[in-house]
Amino acid sequence: MLEIKNLHVKLEEEDKQILKGVDLTVEAGKVHAIMGPNGSGKSTLSYVLSGRDGYEVTEGSATLEGEDLLELEPEERASLGLFLAFQYPVEIPGVGNMTFLRTAVNAQRKARGQDEMSASDFLKEIRAKAKELQIDADMLKRPVNVGFSGGEKKRNEILQMAMLEPKMCILDETDSGLDVDAMKLVAEGVNALRSEGRGFLVITHYQRLLDHIKPDVVHIMSNGRIVKSGGPELALEVEQNGYADILAEAV
Ligand code: ADP
Ligand code: MG
Ligand code: MG
Repeated sequence: MLEIKNLHVKLEEEDKQILKGVDLTVEAGKVHAIMGPNGSGKSTLSYVLSGRDGYEVTEGSATLEGEDLLELEPEERASLGLFLAFQYPVEIPGVGNMTFLRTAVNAQRKARGQDEMSASDFLKEIRAKAKELQIDADMLKRPVNVGFSGGEKKRNEILQMAMLEPKMCILDETDSGLDVDAMKLVAEGVNALRSEGRGFLVITHYQRLLDHIKPDVVHIMSNGRIVKSGGPELALEVEQNGYADILAEAV
């Protein structure tokens, strides 16, 4: 599904290398987690995959189902089925949440050669999915993320993900700033979307999210590279001993 090979990325503004040879393959139907200390490059990886400005790929490749992601515009990546839930969801003043989602869903359908969803089908679907995530009708009408609490923003990201039905979902610290109940809602939302044809990359600083979203593979990232990969037990090791031992061993 997602194949990243020897990815090297530097900042455009300064001569600072952030990613130093990332190798990662996420198969369809699998959940991979990336953990790692602050500043290791986890968010940079998700930004580069989404096509955000300000980064330069100096070496390596990233493909989604064989398509070269790096030469596509952000919206083209999205219509291929790549979805990113960011650590800091953006606010879009003046654009209603429901309107935004309807536009995004229909753009996605158009790119896939499907007809627009009727207004009544869309309403039915969004109401059902919002209910599962405990997002009330009022939040659907408000401008996207404006004045939403941290937890509401994260749940809204999961709602977007559920409506767009992406092939590859990347969640960057979706658990940060969430209390336990909100985290469970987010995890249930993700688990409901797990399916054979869909891959997940869950980036998290803490192990606790992985109690609720059981990963197939856990990777540890440090200083711009994946330094260790293993099963779910690797996340427990981090929880118990921190990163120091793993990083010392990996050098
Ligand atoms: P993580 O998500 O693992 O905490 P980041 O990807 O946010 O790590 O950051 C990786 C490193 O790159 C950090 O040292 C960070 O300070 C640096 N960095 C990322 N983006 C920028 C930027 N726009 N300007 C300066 N430094 C940056
Ligand atoms: Mg960070
Ligand atoms: Mg980060």
